[in-house]
Amino acid sequence: MPRKRLEEFVELAHFNLDGDSIRLLPLGFCARNGCVVLDRVEPGDISPVTLGMVEPYEQAVVEALAHRWGRPVDAVPLNQYEVDRALDVGYPGTRDIEGLPTLDMRAPEPGPEASSAALLNDALAHAIGKMASDLHIEAYPDDVDVRIRVDGVLHQLTTRISPSNLPGVVGRVKALASLDLAERRAPQDGRFRTIVVDGNHRSLRDLRVSILPGPCGEDVVLRVLDTVSGLRPVTKLGLDKEGSAQLVELLENPEGLILVTGPTGSGKTTTLYSALMELQTSTRKVITAEDPIEYWLPKINQKQVGPKAGLAALTRAFLRQDPDVILVGEIRDEDTAVAAARAATTGHLVLSTLHSADPVGTIVRLQGLGLADDIIAEALMAVVAQRLARRNCDACLQPAFHTEQQEELFGPLIDGLESQRGVGCDLCRDSGYVGRIGLFEVAILSPALRDLLCANASPSELREELHRSGHRTLLDDALTKVAEGLTSLDEVMRMIPRRMIAAQVALSRGD
Ligand SMILES: [Zn+2]
Repeated sequence: MPRKRLEEFVELAHFNLDGDSIRLLPLGFCARNGCVVLDRVEPGDISPVTLGMVEPYEQAVVEALAHRWGRPVDAVPLNQYEVDRALDVGYPGTRDIEGLPTLDMRAPEPGPEASSAALLNDALAHAIGKMASDLHIEAYPDDVDVRIRVDGVLHQLTTRISPSNLPGVVGRVKALASLDLAERRAPQDGRFRTIVVDGNHRSLRDLRVSILPGPCGEDVVLRVLDTVSGLRPVTKLGLDKEGSAQLVELLENPEGLILVTGPTGSGKTTTLYSALMELQTSTRKVITAEDPIEYWLPKINQKQVGPKAGLAALTRAFLRQDPDVILVGEIRDEDTAVAAARAATTGHLVLSTLHSADPVGTIVRLQGLGLADDIIAEALMAVVAQRLARRNCDACLQPAFHTEQQEELFGPLIDGLESQRGVGCDLCRDSGYVGRIGLFEVAILSPALRDLLCANASPSELREELHRSGHRTLLDDALTKVAEGLTSLDEVMRMIPRRMIAAQVALSRGD
């Protein structure tokens, strides 16, 4: 096996997976460090040991093993799915159970002398039990604030975590995520996998860890990631029939850039992964560059962005790997924008996300990142703008009357609209909402739009053209979902910026 550079990519099939060699490393160690021995290791040999790693840039593990074995270790990048598959050869049927930390959903309430592990278990069990997306632990001079985010809204948790035991809890999180325990002044990111035990039921959860030092201690945010089973096909995302048909058709294109846009927490990643699942069934080669990788998918070559391989560098390296489809986690700088546009105009379907409010805002943002109008017109195929609104609780749904402020803001857009909202009950914990629903806008760059873009049209001219062509905006989709009783007008006001509503009112008055 020739030495591989990090920029190159490997196929699992190229290695002689060998159970005895894989078992040289305990399963718990492999699970914690995302690594596996790939080639047969002959005792007494001094040739390099090939180690497949999710994070091959983590030199500490490589160096420790090289020291322990007294021979060089070559780290090659694999994704978690590939590492797991290789581990199955050495540890058949046991991989998901052994070596991973457990989270006991039915652990007793921690007492005053509870251990750090018990305190963290308690907070995480509350978060997972209430289907929270995040757990926030924040340090203040004489208090620790513990909150969970459920359906996009933060709720306070009552726990025994206090300023005196917080360092222990943070240490426990760091240990689980294999972070530097001694580092208390710099932000750290990581992740760990845990087995959630609820009576006889066991399931796997991935947690993403972010630690940020502050004046009173380190703040911790744990994001609960769904496993692959939580992902939905494109047709189940909440797009209307036309929208999901459009998206499926877009994904069949051999080249072009499709951007999913919206603010943080708008479900962009879920949509991208649903798109990947759609592509996975096809015969195309898919490569992703992500930071961080949120879901592991089978048969997809997923790469973690690292300090030595940025998004732009990875995207450029991908082109040499002859993929059909490239997913770039997020476009946030000029380098990545240029690399993505280049890939999209040289025979690749490129999927990515961008922070912007709507399709025209996306074009403005790409211009701001330094892409020329003609490049955008050539590369950009479509924009999917989205938000996540809270879904009305069916159990306490009542007709809702529009307020004066709403009449004034929405004007003709809500003439004759019958809206409803939950008044609050036990089921929805008096919030009127249960779960969330996606609001979508799919904009395909038409020849007319491309021409306008190349002729330096202003954003309002681009919006007028979209309006003329009968385009359905995010707000149209939101108001349809209000009319269907799925969400409330209050939620629409919370999700959609006022200026976007005002612009659409002006356009509809101009008809
Ligand atoms: Zn209710």
